[in-house]
Amino acid sequence: MSILLTTLNARYTHASLGLRYLLANMGALQEQTHLQEFVIGAKATEIVERILSYSPKIVGFGIYIWNVEETTKVVAMLKRVAPHVAVVLGGPEVSHETNEQEIVKLADHVVTGWGEVTFPKLCGEILHGPKPLMKVHAGVQPPINDIKLPYSLYSDDDIKNRTLYVEASRGCPFKCEFCLSALDKTAWPFALDNFLAEMESLYQRGARLFKFVDRTFNLNIKTSLKIMQFFLDKLEANPDDPVYAHFELVPDHLPDALKEGISKFPPGALQFEIGIQSFNPAVQTLVSRRQDNQKAADNIRWLTTQSHAHMHVDLIAGLPGETVESFAEGFNKLWALEPHEIQFGILKRLRGTPIIRHTQEFGMVYDPYAPYTILANRDIDFATMQRLVRFARYWDLVANSGRFGHTLPVLLGDAPFQRFMAFADWLYANTDATHRIALERLVAMVARYLQTQGMDKADAEALLASDYAGAKPKAMETPAPKRQARRLAA
Ligand code: SF4
Repeated sequence: MSILLTTLNARYTHASLGLRYLLANMGALQEQTHLQEFVIGAKATEIVERILSYSPKIVGFGIYIWNVEETTKVVAMLKRVAPHVAVVLGGPEVSHETNEQEIVKLADHVVTGWGEVTFPKLCGEILHGPKPLMKVHAGVQPPINDIKLPYSLYSDDDIKNRTLYVEASRGCPFKCEFCLSALDKTAWPFALDNFLAEMESLYQRGARLFKFVDRTFNLNIKTSLKIMQFFLDKLEANPDDPVYAHFELVPDHLPDALKEGISKFPPGALQFEIGIQSFNPAVQTLVSRRQDNQKAADNIRWLTTQSHAHMHVDLIAGLPGETVESFAEGFNKLWALEPHEIQFGILKRLRGTPIIRHTQEFGMVYDPYAPYTILANRDIDFATMQRLVRFARYWDLVANSGRFGHTLPVLLGDAPFQRFMAFADWLYANTDATHRIALERLVAMVARYLQTQGMDKADAEALLASDYAGAKPKAMETPAPKRQARRLAA
């Protein structure tokens, strides 16, 4: 074996689409290329031992924000025990501010940006000469339809046990400054018929969960409709073995034709991830995010009331110009629209993103270590930012987990952000923990907190018991069949 492609995925259930793209596009070198994935948390020595068991001449690592620290240790160890093995890095984390990074110093080469053309070319030069002199190679972006699609490289085991990531297009035409996709010039669609033929083949092999990584699924409505029709046809032909699709949407663009398509999906077949990020127009302008807030709110309301889609909506705290009060206002507005989940994110300074232009004026202080989370800014001091971080963590445990369906509305009352913040402060003060709070303990703590707010002990315990017994109110039910629900937890 000459070339090993590898990465540390965030979870076993995440199969790396990027590595499969590289493998599909290795050309004459494909036969001597092998793919081996790991999961973060594995011991570096064991990873290195496993890598070397293939006796590779070249190891290509996929580097992402979630694995850069652990992969740095792996590369350092690998180069110590096997200095003759050429290490080539690629992926978004090493595609910008490349030369400043420790992992880059340890590696032999880096391919920035798109890897499908440049990585195989570089491997050919390392194996057969002429010896590449440059360390950093800017990835050549080919016409999108010159790229071989990787879907046949999902194994039967991947299809059975892992989330299948797919993309009908790459890139994004928008320029939100906190996002890496802001650096794309536009979005490039893959030829739709080819793409759908690959989806058909995955479906015939048993795939039932498709997670689209397209940054904006609803950019081109004609394409969106055709893709949705593909899934509707499958659902109609095979209702007892339903297929499930996940898409990312821009919230203010939902023409009637798309709504009509969405409304045809039965419960448990469709999930949307929708980025609101901020409802504050001044903040949106500062970070160059174009969003019609009224349309976005109307569309979320329409989706929650008129469709069966499961809705996961993102907000980001810590953006320049966003105060705790303005964030709270946006949070409460979003809560009132009743999405199934609110993903409360804390701003991260992704390498290469244009948001750095605000660093000085807004006093943006970021953690120097991945994932480069904001620690403080002009409007939110460090202590308050930590309270928001805990809010986000507890929100996942209590609200997004769906385990407190009856209790949550009581806990939040008519001021969801303010009341949950007070609860988060109390919970932290009384547990000193944000992780490893066992469910039973959490239930007991919520019951205790409700009593501090004046609720009768018996009433609080009965309320919690209704959730703990597993009875969810209608709005919180996950209609996906068990197998899909399990996969969705991935
Ligand atoms: S946040 Fe979404 S819409 Fe904005 S640039 Fe990134 S992918 Fe595009």
